[in-house]
Amino acid sequence: MAEIIDGRAVARQLDEETRAGVAALVERTGAPPGLAVVLVGNDPASEVYVAHKIKACARVGITSHEHRLPATTGQEALLTLIARLNADPTIHGILVQVPLPEHIDAGAVLGAIDPGKDVDGFHPVNVGRLSTGTGGLVPCTPLGVMKLLDTVIDDLTGMNAVVIGKSNIVGKPIAMLLLEREATVTVTHIETRGLPDLARHADIIIAAAGAPRLVKGYWVKPGAVIVDVGITRVPSPDGGKDKLVGDVAFDEVQHARAVTPVPGGVGPMTIACLLSNTVKAATFTGS
Ligand code: NAD
Repeated sequence: MAEIIDGRAVARQLDEETRAGVAALVERTGAPPGLAVVLVGNDPASEVYVAHKIKACARVGITSHEHRLPATTGQEALLTLIARLNADPTIHGILVQVPLPEHIDAGAVLGAIDPGKDVDGFHPVNVGRLSTGTGGLVPCTPLGVMKLLDTVIDDLTGMNAVVIGKSNIVGKPIAMLLLEREATVTVTHIETRGLPDLARHADIIIAAAGAPRLVKGYWVKPGAVIVDVGITRVPSPDGGKDKLVGDVAFDEVQHARAVTPVPGGVGPMTIACLLSNTVKAATFTGS
C-alpha cells in the first residue's frame, strides 16, 4: 500500500513554525506582520479562497487587511491602492486574488507589487530569482509541493521527475524548484506525446493538469512518489454535494511508494506557505 502523505498534518507543523516566526517578529519589532488581501469583484470561488486566507492569518497571529473593491474598479484605482500598500510599513505582504475582471491587465497589476512584498511569488523579479536560484519569494503551491516531497524523500539528487502541466503559477515553478535540488526534470503538457511512457520512467510524478484521474495506475512505476496538485470540482454521481477530484486515479496507484490525497494533500499546504511567505517577507524587510 502506498503511504498517504498527510498534507493537513504537514501544514499544521508549518503553521507552528510560522507562529514562532510571528512571535519572534513581535518581540523584535513590537508588531505582527501585516498581509493585505485585495479582492476585486465577487467571483464566488475567489470569495471562498480569500475568506480561508483571512481566517488562516488569524490562526497564526498575522494581521490581515482586507480590501474589497467592486468589479467596476478601474486599473488606475487598483494601481493606486497597490502603490499605497507598497509604501505602507505595516504591510509586509500583498496578495491580489486572481482572476481579476477582464478589463484589468493582471500582469500590470501583479508587476506593480513591490517584489519584497509579493507573497504569491508571481512578480517577474521573483520568477527570475527562482529560475536563477537566487532566493526571493517562491509561489505558495510549488513551495508546498516541495515540502510534501521532503517528508518522504531525503535527497532528490539525480531522481527523474515528471511534471504534468506547465502553467506559470504551478508547473514551471515546481520544475525550477526540482532542478535546484538536482533532480532531472521533464515538463509535460497537453501537447506532450507519449506522456504515459514518460511518467512510467519517473521516480517522482507531480500532476498539475486539472484533468481528473488523468494519471492511471499503469503510468506509475512501483515505488514512485506522486504529488497530486489537481483539484477539479465534479458533480456527485448520487446527486449530493460536488466532489473534489485530483489528477491521479488514487485507487489505481497503490503500488507507488507515496501519494498525496485530494482533498487533504497540496491544498492545505498552499495557505500554510502563504502565511510562511508573509513572515519571510516581514523578516526580510526587517521592519
Ligand atoms: P492551468 O490550466 O493554467 O494549466 C494546466 C496545465 O496542464 C497546462 O500546461 C496544460 O497544457 C496541462 N494539461 C491540461 N490537461 C492535460 C492533459 N490531459 N495532459 C497533459 N497535460 C495537460 O492550471 P493550473 O493553474 O496550473 O492548475 C492546475 C491544477 O492544479 C488545477 O486543477 C488547479 O485547480 C490545481 N491547483 C491547485 C492548487 C492547490 O492549492 N491545491 C493551487 C493551484 C492550482
